Amino acid sequence: MDPPRFVIEAPEAASMAKDAGLALTDLLPTLVGDAKCLARTPISRYHVGAVGLGSSGRIFFGVNLEFTGLPLHHSVHAEQFLATNLALHCEPRLLSVAVSSTPCGHCRQFFQEIRHAPEIQIRVFPVNDPDQEPDPAFGPLSRLLPRRFGPSDLLGEEVPLLLEPHHNGLTLSTRNPTHESSCNGFCGGPEADELAAAALEAANESHAPYSKCPSGVAIVDREGKVYKGSYAESAAYNPSLGPVQAALVAYVARGGGGYEGIVGGVLVEKEGAVVRQEHTARLLMGLVSPKCEFRVVHCRSG
Ligand SMILES: [Zn+2]
Repeated sequence: MDPPRFVIEAPEAASMAKDAGLALTDLLPTLVGDAKCLARTPISRYHVGAVGLGSSGRIFFGVNLEFTGLPLHHSVHAEQFLATNLALHCEPRLLSVAVSSTPCGHCRQFFQEIRHAPEIQIRVFPVNDPDQEPDPAFGPLSRLLPRRFGPSDLLGEEVPLLLEPHHNGLTLSTRNPTHESSCNGFCGGPEADELAAAALEAANESHAPYSKCPSGVAIVDREGKVYKGSYAESAAYNPSLGPVQAALVAYVARGGGGYEGIVGGVLVEKEGAVVRQEHTARLLMGLVSPKCEFRVVHCRSG
């Protein structure tokens, strides 16, 4: 069976819209039910599906992820998944989103990290939920979050936002310890170097303008497939998305199965950073995939 798809390429999306006799934007609500089915919600059993249209004409899916054994704030919301999925595929702009439930305050805030966020068109389109009324049409995010607090309150206009290219200028420190002898094959040798390089790449793409502590995680599955995720901060701090969560979004979006299939992982962050991911990352990875060999590699600017 083919793994579920989280991206629909532009020509296929255009053809689907044509066949349905719909504008591309109006195709989004028709896909919300498909997205919703892909959520991983062992705690709430409350599935949320978000379907977004990028400026390239591609369609992206987002779903909520919950993690058994961890506090609720480690969860990934469907809209956060969606924004991370766009970033993963270098999509420069999010135009419109159809979502199965009204976006919570956390997600309204997280979207503010995208330039022109107030103009993103949102339509709530519940599927199989008799308690919720669908929106009759798309409307701007500014309707859901007037008087926003966002990046412009803290940053200059020239600072890149989420979905814009980031080059954090990080390189691996020469002082990193040699690999532990107890590690499996993914902590030593060429696989380890490849994983650390992918995590460094993710750290270089990380959106961390508030703390200036970028970080990235790369994980590898049993087949040797690598997935990377970049830490993404929010101006309001708490809606920030950790690098492990971002890597898990990549894992789910690129067809990864159960998390126990993850066998190795590397976090790259600055040594002694004010905002450190190490302890949280070890906690998260240890719970989602207890046999995963996880290590931390330090980097420095320049
Ligand atoms: Zn939310």
